Amino acid sequence: MRARNKPWADDYLRDNKDIVELSPSDYKNKWEDVFNNNNPVHLEIGTGKGQFIVGMSEQNNDINFIGIELAKSILVSAVQKVLDSNQKNIRLINEDANNLTELFGENEVDKIYLNFSDPWPKARHAKRRLTYKSFLDQYRHILKDDGELVLKTDNRGLFEYSLVSFSQYGLILDEVLLDLHEVNDPTNVMTEYEEKFSNKGQNIYRCKARFPK
Ligand code: SAM
Repeated sequence: MRARNKPWADDYLRDNKDIVELSPSDYKNKWEDVFNNNNPVHLEIGTGKGQFIVGMSEQNNDINFIGIELAKSILVSAVQKVLDSNQKNIRLINEDANNLTELFGENEVDKIYLNFSDPWPKARHAKRRLTYKSFLDQYRHILKDDGELVLKTDNRGLFEYSLVSFSQYGLILDEVLLDLHEVNDPTNVMTEYEEKFSNKGQNIYRCKARFPK
């Protein structure tokens, strides 16, 4: 996802500290303090412009949603969407998913969403894929025992790679869909990329997986 550089992004994120958690590692093991409740925590990695997280939060007021996004200039669009929605169950973090275990304690997260993650098609970049083993190590650490990992993508190469990576890691696959939009799932909230690629006629793949106990 490309966005023009926004020199004002830093100030904008700082001005919206009710939504953007500026020192997220302070809340490791204490995210319930941020939301003031014990509701389940769902994490979206690579939130982009926020359409998914806002849509999900509107459907699920009893779930706390946290979105992590590396690019400040993209995150500001997500902040704007959260402000427009007036949802109180969302927080956003400007962080790299490489640092997840610094932000969340063991068993602190109920579900992780990977939506249209960058595919990094070159073999020498495999370690950057968000379904590479080192990321799975972090997901296993922060997810509860029955926690779920949900992957959606239009990219066949990333999907195939991820299924193999999950299998090699011993994950249990609860669902593999090669054409998500062919099935009627009223709970599916489309991301910006999902809308863009399905409008072009591309299949959307989805996989739901769990770590073994
Ligand atoms: N999820 C959105 C969607 O489906 O419309 C955006 C998809 S876009 C292809 C991938 C997003 O992930 C980008 O906004 C990128 O900045 C972010 N991203 C990539 N690597 C990341 C990382 N290591 N940590 C956090 N965000 C990351």
